[in-house]
Amino acid sequence: MKPKLVVGNWKMNKSFDDAQDLILAIQESLKDMKLQTEVVLCPPFVYAELITDIAEEEDSQFYAGAQNCSEHASGAYTGEISAEMLASMGIEFCIVGHSERRKYFGETNAIIAQKIKLLLENDIVPIVCCGELLEERKAGKHTQVVQQQIEEALFGLEPKEFERIIIAYEPVWAIGTGETATPAQAQEMHAFIRSLVEQKYGTEMAYNTYILYGGSCNAKNAADLFMQEDVDGGLIGGASLKADDFVAIIQAGENVLKDN
Ligand code: PEP
Repeated sequence: MKPKLVVGNWKMNKSFDDAQDLILAIQESLKDMKLQTEVVLCPPFVYAELITDIAEEEDSQFYAGAQNCSEHASGAYTGEISAEMLASMGIEFCIVGHSERRKYFGETNAIIAQKIKLLLENDIVPIVCCGELLEERKAGKHTQVVQQQIEEALFGLEPKEFERIIIAYEPVWAIGTGETATPAQAQEMHAFIRSLVEQKYGTEMAYNTYILYGGSCNAKNAADLFMQEDVDGGLIGGASLKADDFVAIIQAGENVLKDN
C-alpha cells in the first residue's frame, strides 16, 4: 500500500486570524509525528502566504495548495488568479473541477482541461475532482458520468503530464451532506477509475496515480475508507476546518499504512 495523501479544502471559510490559528494548530500537532502521509492545505487564496511561509520551512509537515485557478494565463480577467501567480507564491498543488465550481461557476470538463494544462505548465500538481450527482447514481449512470469527466478533462494529456495528476473522486451527494459513500462504493469507483487510467496509460501509471476519496470523510470513517485497496487518501472539506479532526484523519492514514 502507498502512503496516503490527505488534502484539506477549507472552501470559503475562516477569518485571517482563525486561518492563522488553524494552520499553527495543525503544524503543532503534526510536528512530532514522523509522518509518511503527505498533507496538503488549501485555504482561500488570500491566506496563501500564511501557508507557503510555513510549508517552505525545513521541518514543515505539509504542502501549500489552492482551491482553484483561472483557465486563462493572464490579462483582463478582473478578480481571477492565474496558475502562474499561484506558482510565484510557492503554491505546489491546486484543486480543479470541484463540484461546487462545476455547479455555481459553470465549469465544464473543457474549462477544467485548460486549467490543468496551465497548472502543469507552472509546475503545480492538479488535484482533479470528479463525481456523480445523486440522480445519476440512482439511474445507475455513475460510472458513465465519471468516465466522461475523466476522459474529457484528463485523457488529452501526454503520459509525462498525466503522471503528475492526482484524481479525487467526490460523489456530489456526499459533499457537505454528512452522507458518506460506503467503503465498498468508494472502492468500486476507485477501482473503476484506476482501470480507466490503466487502459489509457498502462499498469504502472495506474498503480502510481493517487486517487483520493472526498465527501463527508471525517475522523470516524476515514480509517474504513483508507483501508480500501484503491483509496489512496482523502480530500477533506468540513473536517479540515478543525485541527483535531483533520489531524485524526491524517493519523488514520498513518495507522492504515502501518497495519497493511
Ligand atoms: C470537499 O469539499 O471537497 C468535501 C469533500 O467536502 P466535505 O468533506 O465537507 O464533504
